[in-house]
Amino acid sequence: MTTRPIREPRAQEAFLPFARPSITEREKEAVLAVLDSGWLTTGPRVKEFEEAFAAFVGLPNAVAVNSATAALHLALDAIGVGPGDEVIVPTWTFAASAEVIAHVGATPVLVDVDAETLNASDDAVIAARTSKTRAYIAVHFAGLPIDLDRLTGELGGNGVSIIEDAAHAFPSRIGPAGRLAGTIGRAGAYSFYATKTITTGEGGMLVTADSALADRARVMSLHGISRDAWNRYTQAGSWYYEIEDAGFKYNLTDLAAALGLAQLARADELHEKRLRLSRLYAEHLRASSVADIVELPPGIDDGAHAWHLFVIRLKLERLRSDRGAVIEALREHGIGTSVHFIPLHMHPYYLDTLRTEPGRFPVASREYERVISLPIWPDMTDRDLQRVVSALESVLGPAIR
Ligand SMILES: *Cc1c(COP(=O)(O)O)cnc(C)c1O
Repeated sequence: MTTRPIREPRAQEAFLPFARPSITEREKEAVLAVLDSGWLTTGPRVKEFEEAFAAFVGLPNAVAVNSATAALHLALDAIGVGPGDEVIVPTWTFAASAEVIAHVGATPVLVDVDAETLNASDDAVIAARTSKTRAYIAVHFAGLPIDLDRLTGELGGNGVSIIEDAAHAFPSRIGPAGRLAGTIGRAGAYSFYATKTITTGEGGMLVTADSALADRARVMSLHGISRDAWNRYTQAGSWYYEIEDAGFKYNLTDLAAALGLAQLARADELHEKRLRLSRLYAEHLRASSVADIVELPPGIDDGAHAWHLFVIRLKLERLRSDRGAVIEALREHGIGTSVHFIPLHMHPYYLDTLRTEPGRFPVASREYERVISLPIWPDMTDRDLQRVVSALESVLGPAIR
């Protein structure tokens, strides 16, 4: 028996992170099995992951890559977007959605978002279309799916491809038929970054019904070489290969794919947990002392939402603090939060290259000042969630005007 001090110091509650992956024995065993297999990079687990993912989303082609950014880049390349072309993208997104447009030498055309959903507004997309527009990158922000039916008609008729940035939206379902976000456009990109709804650490998937697009993406994902590493290096494969174009190094590893397979098998379970937390947040926030200071995100009680993010908005006119001060105070209360997103048009690169201004795109510019992404991750407990709500009450309460 060990002797214990008479009074243990009261343990401080651990810092509650903004995001945390859910890893079980299943994932650990899958990764260990790859380590024992002698084949670490692109091989049988990647092929299996692609097949399982294609089956899950109900499309014939899924190309595993090492990020959603890579998937978006490959999609633009495969569609043939290049210099002189324009690609429409919301200003309310992560760097990745727009930088890939510059990578293929085309021009990003930023558009404002809808005040309620924070997804690009259909009208803004249509208004931004010119004779040079080749594609629209649709971002399903936070996991709230955009119904792309209207735009598919409007843009498709004009030869404009829709590429879905579904980095937040696995699995988000659209309309009564429950079609998955990411499967509606010409191509869809999913992210398996560590904070996303399923993860491989780093990783992504390009999905498409267009087999020629998938073939081109597959070749370009590995040096523009016409065979993948598995075929080249196994005894069954040939040593011969041909370089068809100056490609990229975007392949996923078997280690990552094994993790992805285990996560994919849990996708519905993980989604259920996020859904439950989103409802619990709504319930507790509505019953809290800050119910009329904190606006809830759209899509509560709507099973279609993937809930990658739970983004509240502060009624700043009712507060003496600004959003930055609230985030700092929450941190002092042991709660990690984030901001999604600092609109693209406010960043130096876009201010310079597109000659945007901080106040341009009025909805995004205004909403940016008041958004906070609260912690939401599958293994968060009810007690964790209550801590977040209590911290909001402690921080916002004294700041109410
Ligand atoms: C995370 C994210 C990406 C990029 O995903 P990676 O897999 O990290 O490349 C793209 N778009 C959006 C909206 C994202 O949030």
